[in-house]
Amino acid sequence: MKPPRSALGIDIGGTKIAIGVIAADGRVLASRALPTESRRGTTDATARITTTARLVLHESGLDVEALVGVGIGCSGPVAPLSGEINNPHTLPGWEGWNIVASLAHTLGLPVWLENDADAAALGEYCCGSGRGAERLVMLTVGTGIGGAIIVDGEIYRGAGGEHPEIGHIPVAGEGPECYCGRSGCLESLLSGTAIGAAGQRLGFSNAADVFHSAKSDQRAQQILTTAQRALESAIGTIVHSFAPDRIVLGGGLVAAQKAFFLEAGRTALGRVRLLPPNAVTLAAARLGNFAGIIGAGRWATQRAESQPSRRVPLRDGKSLVNTLPVPPREIPR
Ligand SMILES: [Zn+2]
Repeated sequence: MKPPRSALGIDIGGTKIAIGVIAADGRVLASRALPTESRRGTTDATARITTTARLVLHESGLDVEALVGVGIGCSGPVAPLSGEINNPHTLPGWEGWNIVASLAHTLGLPVWLENDADAAALGEYCCGSGRGAERLVMLTVGTGIGGAIIVDGEIYRGAGGEHPEIGHIPVAGEGPECYCGRSGCLESLLSGTAIGAAGQRLGFSNAADVFHSAKSDQRAQQILTTAQRALESAIGTIVHSFAPDRIVLGGGLVAAQKAFFLEAGRTALGRVRLLPPNAVTLAAARLGNFAGIIGAGRWATQRAESQPSRRVPLRDGKSLVNTLPVPPREIPR
C-alpha cells in the first residue's frame, strides 16, 4: 500500500471557510466552501467544518487512510504552537478556541494551524507564482493586508513563533490612524477597506467604485495615487530589509486590479539602486482563492514527513495525535 501523501487544507477567513483535499503535488482533488459565521460559536463551527471535510474527502475519491493530516490557514492572530485562534477582529466568538484540539478529535487526524497569509504564501511558493524562488515575500491585499515570508521552503517565524505584520509597515508619517495603534500603516492606505473608506468620505460607494471612477474623476485618482505611493514605499522597505528574490502580490484586490498593483510594484523595483538589476522579481499571485487551501494542505504534508506522529497530552487527561510544529533548532553554543 502506498503511504498517505494527500492532506486536507482548510482556509478560514472572516467571511468564508474553504476546505479541500490537496494531493502531494498541490493539485486540488475536491473542494467546498461554507460561511464562517463565527458568532454561532465553536461547537457549531466544529460540527460544520467536520461535516464538510468528510463530504469533500468523499468527493475526492480518497478515504481517510490516504491523508497525512489537516493543515489550517486561519485569519490571525493565531498561535500555531498552542493551536488557538485569537482574532476578535474578524472571528468574534472564537477567541481562545483550540481549533487544533477540536478537529484532531473529530477527524482523528493530526492537525496543524498557521496564519492564513503564511498558508497562501506557501501555496504560491510551491505551486504558483513563487515557484523557483528561494526567498519569497508575499503581500495579500484584500479587506486588510497580510504578509508572509518564505525562506528555503519554510515559513519565517519571528520571536516566540510570532507572525510578522508586514501590513503595518509605516509608509506615511501623517497617514490615517490604524487599529494597531499607529498611523500611516500600509494597511491603512492600500487595503480595500482603506480605499473604500477614503472613497466614501467623497461620495464613492466602495473601493471598486473608486477604481472605476479614477478614469474620469480626479478625487478618485488622488486616492489611488496615495495608495500607489504607499505600496511603492512598502516594496522599497521590503526589498531593502529582506532582499527577497521574489515578491508576490495576491489577495482579492490584486486579482481585481492586477495592472494597478503590478505597475506600482515595478515602479518601486525600478528605483532600487543598492541591489543588482533584476535581483528581485515581482509577480501577481496565480492560485487565486485556492492558494490558502493548497498551502495549508502542503504544510500538513511537509510537517507529517518531517516530524513523526506523537501523542500530545492535554490538560483534561486526554491526548491528541501530534499537532505541534517543529520546535526551533537550538543555537549551538
Ligand atoms: Zn497598523
